[in-house]
Amino acid sequence: MGSAGRTATERDTLTQRAAAQDAMTASPTSALPVSLEFFPPKTPDGTTKLKQVRRELYALKPQFCSVTYGAGGSTQEGTFQTVQAILAEGCEGAPHFSCIGASRGSLRAALDAFRHGGVRRVVALRGDLPSGYGGFGEFRFSSDLVAFIRAETGDHFHIEVAAYPEMHPQARSPQADLQAYLTKVQAGATSAITQMLFNSDAYFRFVDDARAIGADIPVVPGIMPIINASGIIRFAENCGADIPRWIRLRLQSFGDDSASIRSFGLDVITRLCEQLRAGGAPGLHFYTMNQSAATLEICRRLGIGAGR
Ligand code: FAD
Repeated sequence: MGSAGRTATERDTLTQRAAAQDAMTASPTSALPVSLEFFPPKTPDGTTKLKQVRRELYALKPQFCSVTYGAGGSTQEGTFQTVQAILAEGCEGAPHFSCIGASRGSLRAALDAFRHGGVRRVVALRGDLPSGYGGFGEFRFSSDLVAFIRAETGDHFHIEVAAYPEMHPQARSPQADLQAYLTKVQAGATSAITQMLFNSDAYFRFVDDARAIGADIPVVPGIMPIINASGIIRFAENCGADIPRWIRLRLQSFGDDSASIRSFGLDVITRLCEQLRAGGAPGLHFYTMNQSAATLEICRRLGIGAGR
């Protein structure tokens, strides 16, 4: 169909996707965009520390900073407050936004608050309910949320969705998960961020498979700097991310030697980022864990941020 036959909303979506596609095909040697993820602090001290962390990380000129959200609404206020602080600092702030356990009315109210607060990008998720929380609510999957956001707000938001190169842990099969991903894209997602990964092959294979079935939005790999060995091993197990055996064994062999863990972790993650960049990844999304040192050092080694 030619563009003349499309509605303004459809044309805007195409323009947004074309811009995102341009970012995807940028030369691997050109400056690679980075985005940063934080969680909402729980205490005034945490808020002050995070502000300083952000100040340090802004040296990377992030494309946007996203803030996680506790499914069921447990961190809703903290998420939005942190996003507002990021926007006030002149950076694009993107709230994570989950639909599990939520009603249409509560999601509509949150979208209104985002719009009036100047938010232009959201990370749309199903989320995981805390145990004992009850039923799904009015939305079953993130694709339902994406469709709802588009129906309610047209093209106001750049919608990020989650991608799982190593399969979402609850999926029936990799094929079923890929189809579920296609459904989110068809519902109106603009781009995707992957679950943390430690293996570039899984990422490239996922991107190829997704494109082959028509899901061709940019997919930005999620990068978890290795700060704490036992924490990262536990976290990876919970979310279905594979830490290659040799990396896990090396990390475990260091015991409490945090200097060795840090040094090895920086080498491994920098190498992973180099592989992702060389293979054409459109950006890097850092799970900062509200800390700046490791992300800054990885980016310094990659030449990201310096002189940008
Ligand atoms: P969905 O896309 O809905 O997928 C969930 C499961 O349902 C998958 O197994 C999928 O295969 C299946 N599925 C999806 N659609 C269909 C369909 N139409 N038919 C059949 N099966 C289907 N969690 C939080 O609580 N807060 C956060 O802030 C947060 N941020 C995240 C950020 C990123 C980048 C990522 C990768 C994950 C994040 N998570 C967060 C975790 C996420 O909420 C969980 O992984 C959750 O279990 C799934 O969310 P989803 O949006 O991927 O769900």
